[in-house]
Amino acid sequence: MTTLKLSKNDIALIGILSDRNSSYMRGAAAAPGAIRRALHCPSANLCSELGVNLADNSRFIDVGDRNVAKGAENFLAIEADIREIVEQGALPMVLGGDHAITYPIMRAINQVNGPVNILHFDAHPDLYDDFEGNPWSHASPFARIMEKGLAKRLVQVGIRTLNQHQREQVARFGVESHEMKDVDLSSIGRDFDGPVYISLDMDALDPAFAPGVSHHESGGLSVRDILGIIQRLPNPIVGADIVEYNPDRDINDMTAMVASKLLKEIAGKMILNS
Ligand code: MN
Ligand code: MN
Repeated sequence: MTTLKLSKNDIALIGILSDRNSSYMRGAAAAPGAIRRALHCPSANLCSELGVNLADNSRFIDVGDRNVAKGAENFLAIEADIREIVEQGALPMVLGGDHAITYPIMRAINQVNGPVNILHFDAHPDLYDDFEGNPWSHASPFARIMEKGLAKRLVQVGIRTLNQHQREQVARFGVESHEMKDVDLSSIGRDFDGPVYISLDMDALDPAFAPGVSHHESGGLSVRDILGIIQRLPNPIVGADIVEYNPDRDINDMTAMVASKLLKEIAGKMILNS
């Protein structure tokens, strides 16, 4: 990757093979390869619904995967990989891996762009001060991000697991946490000022649409809900991640195809909006 030259506003697809900070079940480290296979599966094409064909778009560049050594803190080293992308003016499209990786990604983005808006799709707010003693847990990245002032705004959608501690964290950090039970999806993403980073935990989706996740939480978003929010987003997108897909839990690669669909739409929108 150190020899790879990217141009301004290229979309750099990068996989992070990291699931050491998962709390319940490992498996997400195998996601990038499975999502790539779905992306290139001959059952579909590489066109976004908004008309961007990733198959022949020179701005869509796959820079490969990054391994992460064992140990809870080693995932932090991916910050340098992401910084190398953003310092060239390119836009990282990151495949996780568990959700812990969003913290070092945001550190890298912040160094070049300053604080940006974050649009976070998830069943969980991921705001635990620590989870079972691990401050790097995939249940905690947005606590770290907010403590460091890395986000201009944090807007969460799909949330349906708030407990008392997490409600306190929402209030403490001023998070705009839209719970599934009362969200107006048509309003989400319409009032950002400036660039947006998209962090998409696959368990934001209802398990009926995406069974291949470690944490099955019913009552979630549909694929179409998320596609609509992305397609309506008017702002430049400085980067995105798709995390928490767990191939071990999938059924006939259905969830890999959903992740691939969302990847196509987000990457297409990154191209259209920059
Ligand atoms: Mn989640
Ligand atoms: Mn998450």
